[in-house]
This record gives sequence, structure tokens and C-alpha cells, in this order.
Amino acid sequence: MKKTSWQLQNTYTDLPDTFYNLQAPDPVKKPELVFFNESLAHDLGLDFLKKEKAKIADYFSGNKVPHGAQPLSQAYAGHQFGYFNMLGDGRAILLGEQVDSLGNRFDIQLKGSGRTPFSRGGDGRATLNSMLREYLISESMHGLGVSTTRSLAVVSTGEQVYRGPIHEGGVLTRVASSHIRVGTFEFARTFGSIEDLQSLTDYTIQRHYPEIAKTDHPALELLKIVMHKQIDLVIDWMSVGFIHGVMNTDNMSISGETIDYGPCAFMNAYHPKKVYSSIDKNSRYAFGNQSYIANWNLTIFANALLPLISDNEEKAVKLANGVLNEFQKRFEYQWYNMMFNKLGIVNPNKKDRVLVNDLLKLMEVHKTDYTQLFLALEKDETLDAYLLAQNEFKNWLQDWKIRNPVLAQMKKYNPRIIPRNHWVENALETAVKGDMMPFKNLLKLLSKPYDDHPNELMYEKTPADFDASYQTFCGT
Ligand code: AMP
Ligand code: MG
Repeated sequence: MKKTSWQLQNTYTDLPDTFYNLQAPDPVKKPELVFFNESLAHDLGLDFLKKEKAKIADYFSGNKVPHGAQPLSQAYAGHQFGYFNMLGDGRAILLGEQVDSLGNRFDIQLKGSGRTPFSRGGDGRATLNSMLREYLISESMHGLGVSTTRSLAVVSTGEQVYRGPIHEGGVLTRVASSHIRVGTFEFARTFGSIEDLQSLTDYTIQRHYPEIAKTDHPALELLKIVMHKQIDLVIDWMSVGFIHGVMNTDNMSISGETIDYGPCAFMNAYHPKKVYSSIDKNSRYAFGNQSYIANWNLTIFANALLPLISDNEEKAVKLANGVLNEFQKRFEYQWYNMMFNKLGIVNPNKKDRVLVNDLLKLMEVHKTDYTQLFLALEKDETLDAYLLAQNEFKNWLQDWKIRNPVLAQMKKYNPRIIPRNHWVENALETAVKGDMMPFKNLLKLLSKPYDDHPNELMYEKTPADFDASYQTFCGT
């Protein structure tokens, strides 16, 4: 086997030093490796030997800083539930950027790694349970084909974390194509100079979108490209029933990856107002609101970029609005296409939009499981368990069948298995008690969610009424 090879670079420190605070992670008492993503590690060129478990735990707890690292916490701001705050990495440390054999650059970040100047009263730590949850859900998003940050390792700390009850502590290693957020731009615009904003913009373009560097209006092009990425992302979420739960501007990545798996969850019964997060009292981040919020966040992004779009503010606003005004139409077009894919409709026409709208209304009224419904449509014979008894649905079904749905297409777009809340909880409960088997089994199934798993049908089912009381939490 090839030897471990850290290839860390630290281009983030090329930015003005207001953007970060150099600091090592806080060591933990007793690091023990709980889970390690060998295949991701291999892709990153990090091949550890099986017997090196203790060494892996040392690296991915922050107790040993790898060669070439220049650890730092990042400064950023953000709109949380609509309100502006100065934030920053309050419990995360960026070790550096690992460059793989193809030259791709990935942030290697420890989450739960101790206090920073941005901790604002927090303890800088995370529970083992929530870090395993982020691991499970982010890796399952990857399996579903949704753009996301990845999870490389979870290490338990041997320390207690207080969140009301006492929990075992954990550190997650997050791998991202970067951690630059809309909130990083808000930070630059609000607290930095115009040169700082320019540096961040140049850096971001070089790192993610070098193709726009030489255009006449790079800042405007950046707004456009980030908008397109966010539209793609939210549509992918909606395709699989994912509710992010906390789409604050600091949790919106410029690279278009899903980031920050806090109160997220997958919807069972379809409802556009569905929310799981205990703190989202006004349903701001409900399933069906995610496109409006992405649009809102992009307005904040545009606002931060304004001085770079044009020296003349009026002109800058006009240009930015010209981009933002395209959001709705583009989103709608892509969203219908996504739904057509799920329904196996090829060469869609205008009337097919009505078919989609009617189906969703029926699902809402009859509280139909979002994932199961499409599988039932594929199989036909199991349909009576769902809506078939309803006359309106019989009519809908007839209209749909006239469109000659293509089964192979449906199978490509409709996952059989999603991380159902009760299975996620079951895997986490047993994992924190030391039994990783259920976690491992679930993760394995979730890595191939579009395949049939005839012997594992129990993972596809929704338990009656489970939705009603399930809640998720932030900052755990
Ligand atoms: P999030 O809701 O995870 O996006 O976090 C929002 C902000 O709170 C970020 O600045 C985090 O770094 C910070 N934060 C969350 N949990 C903690 C914690 N336990 N200690 C310090 N900062 C935290
Ligand atoms: Mg966050």
C-alpha cells in the first residue's frame, strides 16, 4: 500500500489576515477513532495502514497537526433567520488544503476542535452523536448524487460535552472544496475594506471559477454562477425530499456544496410547509420555502458584491437585479424538469406541468410519503396502498399513463432508500453506545440508494405518524 501522504497547502492565508485567525486545534483528552472513510481518504491520497488507528485518531482529533498544515479558524458573518451577525468558525479549525493526485484542492477541517476568537460563548465542542449524524447524512447525500461536503473521520474525545444532558464529545473531519460562504463576503463587505472584498472575490474566482476571471464583469459573473449552482443544489435537495433546516447565509457555500448538517432531515409525508428544526418556529426553512430562501440569500450575496459590480451604485444595483431577476424562471424550469424525470416523462409539454401540480396537491391532501409514492408509481401493483382508492387519483393516473412514462428514467431519479429519521436515530443511538454495526449497515445501503435492495425493504418504510413528533436541533 502507498504511504500516507499529506499534501497540504495553505492558500487561504494569501488573503488579508482579517479573514482568519492562525491557531492550532485544542487537543482532546482521549482520542479514539470511531469511524473512518477509507475510500475518501484514498481519493485524497491519504492511505493509512490498518494498524495506524491511533495515529489516525491523533490527526483527526487535532492532537497531532500534520506536516505542512497551517491551522486557522475562518472569519465570516451571516444572516441567521434574517438577522445579521458576526460569526466565524466558533468550533472548527481548517488544517489546510489537501491537493489530490489530479490537482483538486480540498479543505480539511476539524469540527468540534475547541474554542476560537469566534466562539461567542460557545464551548467550541460537538457531541459524538451529532458528528456521526453529519457523517451519515453527508455521505448519504453524496450517495444520492447531491453536491455536498464530505466526511472523512469521526473521533471520540473522551471528554464530556454539556447540552442540557451530558454527552460524549466528538470531532468530525469535514472535506469541502472550500468553506467560503455567502457570509464570508458579508464579512468582507461589512467589516473589511474594498481591497479586502476584492481580494476575497479574486481568490474565490481563482479557486472555484477561474473561467470567469478574464470576463468584463467578474463580480457579476460570480453572482450569476453562484446563483446557478444554488438553483441546481436546491433542486437536487427537493428531488430527494431533503430539508436543510438552517439555510442562513453563513451556511450557503459559494462552491454550491450542501454545507452544515445541523437540523436537516428528510421529509416523509409530503408537505411544502414541513419543518423538523426545533428552532424554526416560523417555518422559514420549510421544504417548499427553500427556493425562496436561496433567492433571498443570493440578494444578500449580490449586496455584498455591489461595490465590485460597478463604482456607480445605481448601475451596480441594476446589473445585479438583472441577474437576480432570472432566478425564478430558471428555478421553475429546472424544478419541473426534475419532477418530469421523477415521473418518467420525456419530451414534456406545457400540460405536463399541470400533471405535476395536481400530483403534489393530492400528495399533500392525502399525506403521501414523498419517496414511496414514486416507487409505487414505478411498480404499479403496490399503488393501492397509497392513493389508488381516491377517484381523483385514478383520473390523475390515467392522464399520467397516457404520457407513456419511461420506467428506466424513473429508476434513475427516484431513490429507494433515503436516511429515514427513525433509522438514523437507531444507528446513532447504538453507535454512541459502542455498537457501530447498524450505522455501518445503514451507511452501506445509503451509498447505493437508487439500487433495489429486496432484502432490506424495512429501510424504505415510513412508520405511521413518526413525522409528527420528530425534531432536530442546532449547535449540538
Ligand atoms: P451553525 O448553526 O452550525 O451554522 O453555527 C452558527 C455559528 O455558531 C457558527 O459561527 C458556529 O461556529 C457557532 N457555533 C455553533 N456551535 C458552537 C459551539 N459549540 N461553540 C462555539 N461556537 C459554536
Ligand atoms: Mg454554520
